[in-house]
Amino acid sequence: RPRVLSGMQPTNASLHLGNYLGALRQWVALQDDHDAFYCVVDLHAITAGHDPAQLRERTRVTAAQYLAGGVDPERSTLFVQSHVPEHPQLAWVLSCITGFGEASRMTQFKDKSARAGADSTTVGLFTYPVLQAADILLYHADQVPVGEDQRQHIELTRDLAGRFNTRFGETFVLPQAYIPKATAKIYDLQEPTAKMSKSVAGSGLIELLDPPKTIEKRIKSAVTDTGREVVADAQNKPGVTNLITILSAFSGRSVPQIEQDFAGRGYGDLKKEVAAAVLDVVVPFQQRVQELLDDPAELDAVLARGAQKAREVAAPTLATVYERVGFLAAR
Ligand code: ATP
Ligand code: MG
Repeated sequence: RPRVLSGMQPTNASLHLGNYLGALRQWVALQDDHDAFYCVVDLHAITAGHDPAQLRERTRVTAAQYLAGGVDPERSTLFVQSHVPEHPQLAWVLSCITGFGEASRMTQFKDKSARAGADSTTVGLFTYPVLQAADILLYHADQVPVGEDQRQHIELTRDLAGRFNTRFGETFVLPQAYIPKATAKIYDLQEPTAKMSKSVAGSGLIELLDPPKTIEKRIKSAVTDTGREVVADAQNKPGVTNLITILSAFSGRSVPQIEQDFAGRGYGDLKKEVAAAVLDVVVPFQQRVQELLDDPAELDAVLARGAQKAREVAAPTLATVYERVGFLAAR
């Protein structure tokens, strides 16, 4: 079975609609016929400033959302990145075959550092994609289900894997990004040309754990445009197009079908249906998350088993890498 790996940062308590449609839903679908590894990437979550107690809590809440969304720990390996020390160990080695210029071209770093300003941009944020490459390569993942924003990081991962293989001998699988087009990029509801992001707060962000009333209100006040027809046109009607994308993803109706269904109806109707479709999923999801959080010992036990399974793959990979790069064996 082909192997997949992916992760999300516990930077917020809640995942948002983009995380859900762009990533979590694909993860759940893939576990049927793939050997899946899904992690909460807490090491990545300290690259931009954080509160320790909150991080611990958010790591659990993020894992609970994976489970509530349908990740099955019997079939998939669900773990916390910091429980597997091989991740930062491999990242160090990879950082030593990454060009400074190469890393400097990562657009996510450019965007995030521009937002943070030079004084609050950390070296950790700069080397973030190298740690991400280590996450993937440790498990010999064939596919990486992510949103469109991660395409460049997966390319870098492939480059590093190929470079390592050339220099030190065939070691890593070159992974492919798995990015279904329809939900590759969900946009902010208030700024529908920008990706919905955990790190950009505001009323355009739809968080799965927000009170249903808030979610409904935010969808109903989504930015649209001055026209009145419900048609997908990313260039001229990005807001409406984003809402159609979301409705299509939740309802299983195709975009042309939705356009047809809304012929002669306005944006108000569209927003109502989007809100209903989102809440249909979100309300039972929230209940399930709460149940999981009510039993933190059980949740931690699931994560402990996952970490053990993950280490069984990660440790031999790292040992091979250490041997190939010429580190003297410890004895
Ligand atoms: P941040 O803005 O802090 O980077 P994020 O919203 O991008 O947070 P991550 O934890 O970095 O969240 O990403 C988790 C997964 O969700 C990744 O696979 C990413 O590609 C995907 N993803 C994030 N935002 C979107 C979006 N707007 N549309 C589709 N997929 C998304
Ligand atoms: Mg991100």
